Amino acid sequence: MSESKKAVIIGAGVAGIATAIFLAQKGISVEVYEKNANPGGRCGQMIQEGHRFDLGATILLMPSLYRRVFASLGLDMDRELETTSLEPVYKLFFGDGTDFAFTRDKEKMKSQLEGMEPGSFEHYERYVKEGYEFFNMAKLGLLGRNFYHVFQFINFKNVQLLIRLKTWIRHTNYIKRFFRHPHLQMAFTFQNIYVGQNPYKQPAFFSMLPGAEIAEGALFPKGGMHRVVEKLLSTAVELGVQFQYKNPVSKIIVNGNKTEGIQLEDGSIIKADLVIANADLPYVYSRLLPESRMSRRLQKKEYSCSAIVFHWGVDKVYPQLEHHSVFLNDPYKEGMEKIFNEKSISVNPSFYIHAPVRTDKSAAPENQDTLSVIVPAGHVDGKSGQDWQQLKQTARDGVIRRLKEAGLTDIEEHIKFETCYLPKTWESYCNVTNGSVFGSLSHTIFQMGYFRPHNRHNKYKNLYFAGGSTHPGNGIPLVLLSAKLTSERILKNV
Ligand SMILES: Cc1cc2nc3c(=O)[nH]c(=O)nc-3n(C[C@H](O)[C@H](O)[C@H](O)COP(=O)(O)OP(=O)(O)OC[C@H]3O[C@@H](n4cnc5c(N)ncnc54)[C@H](O)[C@@H]3O)c2cc1C
Repeated sequence: MSESKKAVIIGAGVAGIATAIFLAQKGISVEVYEKNANPGGRCGQMIQEGHRFDLGATILLMPSLYRRVFASLGLDMDRELETTSLEPVYKLFFGDGTDFAFTRDKEKMKSQLEGMEPGSFEHYERYVKEGYEFFNMAKLGLLGRNFYHVFQFINFKNVQLLIRLKTWIRHTNYIKRFFRHPHLQMAFTFQNIYVGQNPYKQPAFFSMLPGAEIAEGALFPKGGMHRVVEKLLSTAVELGVQFQYKNPVSKIIVNGNKTEGIQLEDGSIIKADLVIANADLPYVYSRLLPESRMSRRLQKKEYSCSAIVFHWGVDKVYPQLEHHSVFLNDPYKEGMEKIFNEKSISVNPSFYIHAPVRTDKSAAPENQDTLSVIVPAGHVDGKSGQDWQQLKQTARDGVIRRLKEAGLTDIEEHIKFETCYLPKTWESYCNVTNGSVFGSLSHTIFQMGYFRPHNRHNKYKNLYFAGGSTHPGNGIPLVLLSAKLTSERILKNV
């Protein structure tokens, strides 16, 4: 390979930075252009009055995938990130005032389950084992490889795999084979939300999420999830990668069947042999490339849900909360329908709280708390008459009410400051289509594998994509894999 090749990467998200490292390690000169003042995108960070917040991603799940990608970058993930395995993984709070520790401790899990539904521990063990098998099968056959042509995806072996992965049965129907108690059915299906999906619509295959949580645990890197970005960034900089912040790209320059580089918003042109778009793929097709049939087709695809996020600096520590706390409110099914059908939120929304001080005191000033509340919400949709200020108020009222019920009676008085990210904020902050932060494209079975938009442009052969909206999908472990797969494809072709 020629050492004089030059690549430009649009976006300094996790996938953009990891791709930069893979390419720079092979002697390609890499420049990264990022619209924001800081790196990380949806894995960014905010520090205010001594409170440190992870803006988006907070849970380090599927550590085996991190280890695999880090190892191929020459990094030892556990050493570099100084991780702690969380126990419990999280605590679940139900609407009737009961709670449930999602624990990896077998004895604790057994006594909780048997107390709720006699005989259920055995079913739990089978559910988790099968879910983790789905994860391992998917890792090899579906997520961890490139599909260079359609017959690598649609063939007898893969059809068998899709059947074994139970892609034909909905998760909420599948769970009934294991648990009768509605709280247990909720406790082992809500994880679909991690990838922006409705468990009532998506397949049993996603039981791989709770399966992997129990089998591999959830880790916390000292300093927060943004440490992943910082570590990747320092590695890239050491390799000579140039990062240009506050430099939005306005256009990908194309000529015939190739790209010649990019144009920045200030008008300057950057020539390159390769362009890699880490920015959201549907956004790139609709805003940075000439109009095409593909850009129109992408608009009609299914998009993941979004989230209303409140970051609170709090002058008190609430022992009721674990590092990760999930509040699942009734009615569960209607709550999902509000998000996915009405593109709205319920007046009694389910939500999640990240409270990192319990594991890492450096996340807040002494005796204070840093809380991020994530409320899954409908994505931005011009046809749904959304009033975001009203939806924000509904979300906030619902969260505060539920926290008071859980014993955080004076929470409102102790919030020193609040920053809120609405779906519209995500849309403009990261250029994520519809503010669909868990995708952006949804992970339906017809939008995965070969059916997910490819990581190489069909026409412009030196234009590639890396990130959540291309193969294999969204979430930090998968966007790291995306960087690896896209880089492998590039290096095969240069
Ligand atoms: C609230 C929330 C909670 C989440 N929780 C988790 C979690 O717990 N665990 C987990 O694994 N994942 C989680 N995720 C998902 C995870 O954050 C994303 O999958 C991941 O960060 C996406 O990385 P990316 O590199 O694909 O894209 P991005 O992070 O979106 O990076 C793309 C970059 O491109 C830049 N860009 C866009 N357009 C342009 C342009 N025109 N010019 C220059 N730059 C541009 C953007 O500013 C951005 O920095 C969460 C996400 C959110 C929002």
